[in-house]
Amino acid sequence: MKQHLILLAALLILTACAPKSQPAAITTATATPVTASMTPAVPSAPMPTLPARGAANPSPTPPATATNGTFARQYLQAIVGEIGRREPGTKEERLTAQYIQDMFKAFGYAPTTQKFSVYDKEAGQDFNSSNVIAVKAGLSDKVIVVGAHYDSPYEDGSKGADDNASGVAVMLEVAKLVKALETPYTIQFIAFGAEEFNLNGSTYFVDNLATTERKNIVGMFNLDSLIASDKSYIYGNAGPGTMRDWVIKAAARRKMALESKTAQEMNNADGSPCECADYDAFERAGIPYAYFEATNWDLSADGMTQVDVRYGDQGKIRHTKYDTLAYIEATFPNRIDQHLNLFVTLLFDLLTQY
Ligand SMILES: [Zn+2]
Repeated sequence: MKQHLILLAALLILTACAPKSQPAAITTATATPVTASMTPAVPSAPMPTLPARGAANPSPTPPATATNGTFARQYLQAIVGEIGRREPGTKEERLTAQYIQDMFKAFGYAPTTQKFSVYDKEAGQDFNSSNVIAVKAGLSDKVIVVGAHYDSPYEDGSKGADDNASGVAVMLEVAKLVKALETPYTIQFIAFGAEEFNLNGSTYFVDNLATTERKNIVGMFNLDSLIASDKSYIYGNAGPGTMRDWVIKAAARRKMALESKTAQEMNNADGSPCECADYDAFERAGIPYAYFEATNWDLSADGMTQVDVRYGDQGKIRHTKYDTLAYIEATFPNRIDQHLNLFVTLLFDLLTQY
């Protein structure tokens, strides 16, 4: 208990410190796009349902991006370094939920938690978990959900750095960056609990949407396992006007190295949906989605081999003891920061420019 309190105190200090250590340049850079060289060569096509742009955000010039990922790195360090393993239903999972809630509050949001309980058949009892939700009002009350699970896998030794403190860290930084900006859509940032136990948090969230709420969601961006692998991907339905298409255009505008797979390519060999991440429940409910992940589909047919087989457990980082910040950083120097920069920049663009 005492240890618990010390950890909590350390977290609160971190929470209190994080906003203060914010380099002033970031706020300036995001609020006032400057460099002419950042003007995209090819303007992206707007989404069909794009609400009118307001006066507060009149320029199509994307903001500078060099510092993007700096805050995400701090949040990643806090979750993985201070808390570490956080399996569904554990006090560490609850501590992580509290940390995320505290960060949302520090950014100026009024977060809510959605509690749920899960029956663990093997243990013969229920455990509790929760989703943490922060809402950013937009020009339109149509909603875009940005989701990332904050629990970590059960495998021994995994600290869940890649899977999925990375997704949470990117979500938190973007939530911070967009708070004072005008966004076309209302954004619901959701940190899902108990993903590693049958995708419980996201399923509970979608199952409890009223019909009007479900219909009001334009789409869902899922962030899961973003920092360990060679390549960055976007998954989703094929074709013009889909969320996947929207992301591909935004990445091209930045000349980012982002590869893609269609929902069909993600399916199991027998054509059934993969049921492997938090977007599943949204897809089943008929909500469009786009799913960000870093892996390497050149290395295996199922996309599960993330890096060269000489590294990790036969090329796998997530769900292994190699999913720690220390291993990823030592094995692939600079990769973590590069990936955080790419995903923060891309998600920021998607939420502010479209
Ligand atoms: Zn995951």
